[in-house]
Amino acid sequence: MDLYEHQARELLHHNGVPVPRAEVVDTAEAARAAAERLGGRVVIKAQVKTGGRGKAGGVKLADDPAAAELTARRILGMDIKGHTVHRVMVAEPIEVEREMYLGFALDRAAGRFLAIASAEGGMEIEEVAARRPEAVARIAVDPAEGVTEAKAAEIAVAGGLPRETAGTIRRLWTVLTAHDALLVEVNPLVVTRGGAIVALDGKVTLDDNARFRQPSWDDGGGAGGAGGADGGAGNAGGAVAAGGAGGADDRARDSLEARAAAAGLGYVKLDGQVGVIGNGAGLVMSTLDVVAGCGARPADFLDIGGGASAQVMADGLSLVLDDPDVRSVLVNVFGGITACDAVADGIVRALDTVPLTKPLVVRLDGNNAARGRAIIGTLAHPLVHQADTMDGAAARAAELAASAA
Ligand code: GDP
Ligand code: MN
Repeated sequence: MDLYEHQARELLHHNGVPVPRAEVVDTAEAARAAAERLGGRVVIKAQVKTGGRGKAGGVKLADDPAAAELTARRILGMDIKGHTVHRVMVAEPIEVEREMYLGFALDRAAGRFLAIASAEGGMEIEEVAARRPEAVARIAVDPAEGVTEAKAAEIAVAGGLPRETAGTIRRLWTVLTAHDALLVEVNPLVVTRGGAIVALDGKVTLDDNARFRQPSWDDGGGAGGAGGADGGAGNAGGAVAAGGAGGADDRARDSLEARAAAAGLGYVKLDGQVGVIGNGAGLVMSTLDVVAGCGARPADFLDIGGGASAQVMADGLSLVLDDPDVRSVLVNVFGGITACDAVADGIVRALDTVPLTKPLVVRLDGNNAARGRAIIGTLAHPLVHQADTMDGAAARAAELAASAA
């Protein structure tokens, strides 16, 4: 799960990393009032879960509260790489002497973390990393040893950062470990005109597998108020640490994923238009591939599990139908423990409560397939289609999604 900048900022602040004073607002009028409280001159920053906001015009300086209102009005509602801006952060402006880059990211292949540091931080960091990789230092960190004083000094020296950043380096490591993050990135970390070290931006990706021991992620408090299971596909990645796609509107994504988590569904929001529901992670994964093979893009991964009840089918179907990106839905079930007639009952029950507004393609095979197909057949619903094979079902769903576009 990616955090918004203002949530990342809270974590940094909590762990002793200096950040500019700031408020988060969702209207232009509130931005004006916040600017008044913050001393008049402020920076207005779009709160979306993607990087490159500065280049997209989502980070602007405003000289006074009236300008803050105008600027906020322009940024609110803006689309940045497919993410709609619903809120802006109004921040105290910082007089910057130099911009640096500092981050920690998990290196899965090496089973370690990487400290990434550069004296050339700022909006051009991706170009710097691509053209002159030697300007971006990458130092392995053994998770068992952590970042000692000596390690912090080593990271600072390798990245060409002033020695005074060593404390910040250690505190950033604490943010990562205390909050079970996979990525913590500050770009830019700045030296101010006055010689202070301040984090002007912050990006944190939490590890959803640690949810069981991070209760604050679920109760809406703490940093994880955003809620929801991590999509992976929705991970905007770090500027230098990772790649990654943009995606659906952050709020829609968060609320769908939070609903899925609450219902105990194995759900990952993806960026396409064909909603995919299946039983068993392996089958769902292959279904995603087959949909992609038909030239369409899956809108989600939803595994209703091996022993899924009719209720689970109903929950899953209503969730996928509520995704505004979905243009057609493909239910692919191989009956085993869950017999196909139970799945068909679930579909019928779901359609009792959720009016079907999008075409639904159902492929049932395996245990009690004939009975399941008969139940779906008796629905005689104009938007419900059946297919005998996975390939046939995916092709139909892809075609229906394309014609709904
Ligand atoms: P990003 O483009 O999404 O990474 O957003 P950032 O928060 O990093 O903001 C983009 C750029 O705006 C930064 O790299 C800074 O150069 C600049 N910036 C942001 N806040 C301030 C500020 O308070 N003072 C100054 N001088 N520049 C700022
Ligand atoms: Mn940045």
